[in-house]
Amino acid sequence: MISVVIAGLAGRMGQQTLEAARQAEDVRVVAGTVRPGAAAPAGAIPVEERLEAALEHGGQVVVDFTTPAVCVDNARVCAARGVPFVTGTTGLEPAQRQALEEAAASIPVLHAPNMSVGVHLLTKLVREAAERLDEAYDVEIVEAHHRHKRDAPSGTALHLAEAVARVQGVDLGDVARYGREGIVGARPRREIGISAVRGGDVVGEHTVLFLGDGERLELTHKASSRAAFARGAVRAARWIVNQPPGLYGMEDVLR
Ligand code: NAD
Repeated sequence: MISVVIAGLAGRMGQQTLEAARQAEDVRVVAGTVRPGAAAPAGAIPVEERLEAALEHGGQVVVDFTTPAVCVDNARVCAARGVPFVTGTTGLEPAQRQALEEAAASIPVLHAPNMSVGVHLLTKLVREAAERLDEAYDVEIVEAHHRHKRDAPSGTALHLAEAVARVQGVDLGDVARYGREGIVGARPRREIGISAVRGGDVVGEHTVLFLGDGERLELTHKASSRAAFARGAVRAARWIVNQPPGLYGMEDVLR
């Protein structure tokens, strides 16, 4: 039995992860954290405002779906206590990603912008398409999410763009084009365009387009429920308890 603490228990993903853990026979949620001052969600699980206090309930692993700043604080608490850390929080700045890497020197840390099996496969298919289609094909990424999402573009869109850039042997920072406006001129060959749509209750959609002359390939993933992400988070928690320190992604879990 694996004992899990959920950081961000009251959030959309925190609640889904609690449900996914309830459906798993070998995983038990022993406590959760909520934003200081926030009401605890209904349920029989101990709820704390500080991760240190939540870990007193016996958590072997922390699953975090919070905000970038809270995620980094949580990684540091886990590193100080030797507790493996799984986070799906997106929108981290480079310095915040660096902080996760520092934590990963002493504990296993899994950071995945998308924990679904489908997006893992989409990434592989995108990598293969980028390998097979030469630079005559322009790559564009379009993502859509619900109106509450804070960061744009999505961590998944950036992850997909990184995958393409790596195959093409370029630095994403040099070729990324975030949205377009005004007299932007002709499209440079090696640009990777990334656009974000926001509204309604869209759980998450990602399309990678390879646009050539006379044809185009579109690879799309649509999440219709957060349950797919939550199942992935539970799978990651189960996997990470046996890993040595290091920074991991879903590709390590879903080999
Ligand atoms: P949300 O706003 O519903 O949940 C975040 C929760 O964190 C909120 O309840 C907030 O009150 C809480 N929180 C803030 N400060 C806290 C603190 N100090 N301690 C404890 N809790 C605190 O958002 P969400 O839709 O659940 O998404 C959370 C994050 O997960 C976002 O970054 C989102 O992009 C990401 N996400 C990742 C995946 C994935 O598969 N990796 C899937 C969906 C969402």
